[in-house]
Amino acid sequence: MNGPASRPPGTSLSASGSHTGTSLGEFPWSLSASELEDRATSNLQRAETELSELLHRPGARTVENFLEPLDRILLRVRDIASHGHFTFAVHSDEGCRTAGREASEAAERFFNGFRVNDDAYRALGSLVLEGADEPTRFCVAKMLREMRRSGVEKDAASRARLLELNNEIDRVANQYAENIAKLERTIEVSGTNDLAGLPPDFLATHLPGADGTIRITTRYPDFHPVMAYAQQPELRRRLLSEFMNRAYPENLPVLDQLLAQRYELATSLGYPAYSAYAIEDKMMERPEAVRTFLDRVANVLRQPATADLARFLARKREDEPSAERLELWDSSLFGEGYYDGKLRAEEFGVDTKLLRAYLPYGQVRDGLFALCEELFGVHFHRLPSDGLWHPSVEAYDVTLGNAPLGRFFLDLVPREGKFSHAACFGIRDGILGLRLPQSALVCNFLDATGPAESARMQYSDVITFFHEFGHLLHALFSGHGRWLYTTMSFIEWDFVEAPSQLFEEWARNPATLARFARNPDTGETIPADLLERLRAAEALGRSVRWLRQVALAAISLELYDRPPAGLDSTETFREVWARYFTHPLEPEYHPSMAWGHLTGYSAFYYTYVWSLVIARDLLRPFLEKGTLTDPETAARYAREILTPGSTRPASELVQAYLGREFDFVAFERWIREGLELSRPRPRATA
Ligand SMILES: [Zn+2]
Repeated sequence: MNGPASRPPGTSLSASGSHTGTSLGEFPWSLSASELEDRATSNLQRAETELSELLHRPGARTVENFLEPLDRILLRVRDIASHGHFTFAVHSDEGCRTAGREASEAAERFFNGFRVNDDAYRALGSLVLEGADEPTRFCVAKMLREMRRSGVEKDAASRARLLELNNEIDRVANQYAENIAKLERTIEVSGTNDLAGLPPDFLATHLPGADGTIRITTRYPDFHPVMAYAQQPELRRRLLSEFMNRAYPENLPVLDQLLAQRYELATSLGYPAYSAYAIEDKMMERPEAVRTFLDRVANVLRQPATADLARFLARKREDEPSAERLELWDSSLFGEGYYDGKLRAEEFGVDTKLLRAYLPYGQVRDGLFALCEELFGVHFHRLPSDGLWHPSVEAYDVTLGNAPLGRFFLDLVPREGKFSHAACFGIRDGILGLRLPQSALVCNFLDATGPAESARMQYSDVITFFHEFGHLLHALFSGHGRWLYTTMSFIEWDFVEAPSQLFEEWARNPATLARFARNPDTGETIPADLLERLRAAEALGRSVRWLRQVALAAISLELYDRPPAGLDSTETFREVWARYFTHPLEPEYHPSMAWGHLTGYSAFYYTYVWSLVIARDLLRPFLEKGTLTDPETAARYAREILTPGSTRPASELVQAYLGREFDFVAFERWIREGLELSRPRPRATA
């Protein structure tokens, strides 16, 4: 999922929930940059006016005469934020992208101002809640807490300073992210010989220039293949060094400023540090609880990770008998993992390039839809794409039984200026009786040169597709509550990856994968033994990958836990890293300068590990039934986890679904199972 902005995205200005027509004309994709700007400005002004009128209305405040109109005003502003954010991500015109980003920043400033508006706070606090249902009470409690956390109870001068700080933090965080996106570095190699091991399609797009040299950049399409396949360790070493420094020194003062401002914000509000502030409204609640959790997971992972790393080192010594250690550019600690890949190919006979034959996009998508129909009883109705932001975009309406559930878009083909990773964007939050939810998957899976339906997918992209679709299902099912603050967007951010990490399992499970992985040229279904080897190869290095996530989680916590005066973020990174791995970070590396999650997730990067432990437990009822397609378990999952959104604390949802508190049993079993599956095998012949 897209890392959380200070407010997660979701938009569109239409209040229509109608699914009767097929017109998608409500999306103003044809607007110019200045029209986008005007529209955002006038909508924000309207929201300001309406808020002021609402606050000046005399009489007792009730859910009907106050909360409901307030929610609609905030929904209007949120639409500006989400729509701007989405325009910035997908629009093909640079001017429109800038207008989108500026609109979303203006909407964030409105929210920052609202949160320290003491008139609004008093009015909300005086709301008559007699007879109100639980979600409504929970919604109001969350709004009040958010305002207190912004300093609304402070005196006017302090509130002004806090508002200024929050606006500055948004601006500096955007600058940090923009530097990472914009800055790239290159290395030059003297000819194709230096690129030994890289696949032919990479060589075809990296031809020598007039002087005979070849340029390699730190962008993902160059970085990942080089780290995975380049035989020359020197090439991997050089590129990793540039990659680690790609936003250095530019982001050094920016990150220092961000850490200092967030520390000031948290301490002015009475917290010991920003970590305590950021974690307070999450499932975990306290940094100490995060530390205990990370220690516990590290204890599970350390020994198996050490064993896997020793195995990679042994394989390295076959190439370099005198090698004393595994370097960062040899392993999957940063990058794809050269020796992990070697063992996957040699011991498990898994060549990810060969899997592509079974994975044409149209077939994968239809297989995914069929699984969702069987699991959840939903149906997908394709809509015409005219009038959307790009002709390659697919649009669908979803129904559950005969009732409309929502609409979504698939934008999967890369193009210039488009968001370059994979994420599920909320386009608009669904509100009961008012409008249906809309989301979009913005990914870059498909080769733009041929017809998308038959374009072959990387297996790892199929897993990402399912991951993002897990977020999408969550958004569709949960978008039918009464309030903006009880939609999925306002759920605890350390729970948000659980439904998506869970849904990946349907792409990993041999039985469900075999339903759609079929070679259309030969009609052959993916062979069972290949599926079995794939599963084993995937398990190789599992504990190393997750110990790395634990290390990063501990680093993000530490950076936001310490006073910023004299804090050297690079040194802190190195110091905490060394608690988990003996692989030294080279002295010239500056990884904290180009780590996008330090803005969005700030101190709670632990989200990935925490959500994973929950996701493994959520999977357990399916595994106990012996099938991932048990309809009764799927229905309970949809009812207890997906549909409630954030109408209740996430821990209560998990408890309702499992019938108990979640625990570590499933996670520990999964780590042990990974070791068992990936045990050394006799080498396949070359
Ligand atoms: Zn995600």
